[in-house]
Amino acid sequence: MRKILVAGNWKLNGSLKMTEDLVNGILDGMSNITTEVAVCPPYPYLAKTTELLAGSAVKCGSQDNSDQVSGAFTGEVSADMIKESGCTYAIVGHSERRSLFGETDTATAQKFAAARKAGLIPILCVGETLEEREKGVTEDVVARQIDAVIDLEGVTALADGVIAYEPVWAIGTGMTASKQQAQDVHAFIRSRIADLDSSVAKKVQILYGGSVKPDNAAELFAEPDIDGGLIGGAALTAESFLGICEAGS
Ligand code: PEP
Repeated sequence: MRKILVAGNWKLNGSLKMTEDLVNGILDGMSNITTEVAVCPPYPYLAKTTELLAGSAVKCGSQDNSDQVSGAFTGEVSADMIKESGCTYAIVGHSERRSLFGETDTATAQKFAAARKAGLIPILCVGETLEEREKGVTEDVVARQIDAVIDLEGVTALADGVIAYEPVWAIGTGMTASKQQAQDVHAFIRSRIADLDSSVAKKVQILYGGSVKPDNAAELFAEPDIDGGLIGGAALTAESFLGICEAGS
């Protein structure tokens, strides 16, 4: 039985003060929450966040990681460094990394591999643009993005990670995919993995991301192949983030 995971992606938002207030606000509201919960702040706040979360059920993750271990890669942060900061998860291949920073499927797969090697749980983001959906190639796009990881690491590597299906047209737009649209793609992802390894397919959590809010989370999370959410905007206040966690509890 897969558990529901709700992970907050703070993106480039916050300050030390906001980190403390938001993390403490989440911790204060955890008594009714039975989902798995994670927050993914910017790099400079990871260590502070894991210090605040120590002893709680809430986990911390990064929003990215280098595919490199060390060396002359100015500005990069390795998966080992993220692990050493006390993190559990690492988001890789977010659509903003792909579209704004030119990260390819192969680069994302290499980041997935580096995170996994460091003992982090990679959260692999996949999803189509509006143009791709309208062209009817959603499944091709998502399959290509997942296959890049399978080709590099083998299908069993997916059992060490989490997949987040995030239609690009639904991210930060207020346009959530309908529960049926989301379920259809989640079921496609799971069946594609099952064709290679049914135990991996049964185990891997597949999150939905894209304008999830407290009032639409419950119906999404009730779908058989939706195992939680990757949350952007609504992860920036304790009230809305906890509202989503409660919807999955
Ligand atoms: C995201 O960026 O991963 C995301 C899902 O954002 P939002 O919830 O704001 O659409």
